[in-house]
Amino acid sequence: LTTFTDEARIALDTLSGRAAGLFSPTLRLGVTGLSRAGKTVFISALVHNLLHGGRLPLFEAQKSGRIARAYLEEQPDDAVPRFQYEDHIATLVEQRLWPDSTRAISELRLTIEYESASGWGRMFSAGKLSLDIVDYPGEWLLDLPLLGKSYADFSREAFEMAELPVRTDLSKDWRTLSAAIDADADADEVTARRLADGFAAYLKACKLDDRALSTLPPGRFLMPGDLEGSPALTFAPLPPGEERRARPGSLRAMMERRYEAYKTHVVKPFFREHITRLDRQIVLIDALQALNAGPGAMADLERAVTEILACFRPGRGNFLTDLVSRRIDRILIAATKADHLHHESHDRLQAIVRRLADRAIARANFTGADVDVVAMAAVRATREGTVKQGRETLPVILGTPLAGETIGGQAFDGKTETAIFPGDLPEKVDSVFETSNGHRQDDVDPAIRFVRFRPPKLERTAEGVTLSLPHIRLDRALQFLIGDRLA
Ligand code: GDP
Repeated sequence: LTTFTDEARIALDTLSGRAAGLFSPTLRLGVTGLSRAGKTVFISALVHNLLHGGRLPLFEAQKSGRIARAYLEEQPDDAVPRFQYEDHIATLVEQRLWPDSTRAISELRLTIEYESASGWGRMFSAGKLSLDIVDYPGEWLLDLPLLGKSYADFSREAFEMAELPVRTDLSKDWRTLSAAIDADADADEVTARRLADGFAAYLKACKLDDRALSTLPPGRFLMPGDLEGSPALTFAPLPPGEERRARPGSLRAMMERRYEAYKTHVVKPFFREHITRLDRQIVLIDALQALNAGPGAMADLERAVTEILACFRPGRGNFLTDLVSRRIDRILIAATKADHLHHESHDRLQAIVRRLADRAIARANFTGADVDVVAMAAVRATREGTVKQGRETLPVILGTPLAGETIGGQAFDGKTETAIFPGDLPEKVDSVFETSNGHRQDDVDPAIRFVRFRPPKLERTAEGVTLSLPHIRLDRALQFLIGDRLA
């Protein structure tokens, strides 16, 4: 799978990284999750709260006043785009709109100067930590298993998945197209492109569908980054052939060569250059969307989390994953957007994520890093209140729905604050997961009323100081991800 040069290069990188780390400690934090899970919002809120001394009572270093200063610095990797923090914050804070989502990898360095908690530490430690935040699409991570799969394996699995009942209608056009071509005829670019476009359209339809299906590889078909339209992406799975080896010059041989090129030139370098260097990882998931879409979507999300964890598992006999897992010692699985629920349901959401993570850990046979879970909102767009209905007092959330959002036929203008009764998550965690016969226990429907709210207006103190972005449990996430490195 890998060559000696890969190994030598990573070993050297690691060594020089460690050496540099002795003088100026660094921590590389990977932020991932499938598209729209909340990566951009999470990073923007984390940095904003650290730069502006946000309210973070569960983040010990901040709470005890040991953080002297936090500031952005030039990032260490010149070839990686910078995370556009300033633009994202301007959109969030000034326009009160959500920023553009992650489309490719980016990086940002935040340096924290702190006072060590122990007298001993104060004497010896420089009290400075450079946090390198690396934002990348979860779709790209899920390409790792391809490294162990031949083109024939990849094709067979792609057709098996496409024929599953939940996907048959979405994959129909592409399957019809594939059935009509002769894969053993001479290769031609136009056919290759039609098949690749058809396959990509099917993968995108799965993503956009209300059933909230999670992702199938290749990840770059959904998130091409700078590879849009390049030959490395002009391939697709083909129905199995009669012969064991494709005839040279055939469409099948061409597709196989491009699949191998995708692995060699896209998947492997991404892992070698970025994932093997991470120290910590947060995986964001949109659990509320999956809960609303039903038990099939929950099962699908569980499958995605299982595959993500498997990427960080040691001992797959894969040199790259062994390296990743030796280094990453903490992984946080975080359901964000908890501000769509009343606080009484936050613990329930966290319990559901914990169950999902436990099942994924068991299925992936995961060992190695510490895994924790949290239900949070990186940016809290709502506040809580109550509404009287007859004799009852109902807990509600108040926020400004985005212009164009609707609920029960009512359309919003993006200007008016509205009270919404979101509904409660069920108390019994198991009830939201598929039972063995593939159904949800019929007495529970956890569907919550879900509208997208505008980001909040920032509050000012009596002295006129603008406070940082409000959140829910962002401090808990921070404590787990970096707290020990500021001790
Ligand atoms: P990415 O694709 O993972 O970078 O996802 P984003 O960070 O762009 O988030 C996608 C969308 O989810 C945003 O445009 C928001 O509508 C919503 N969102 C993300 N985080 C939060 C949050 O903490 N609270 C709320 N209310 N909405 C969020």
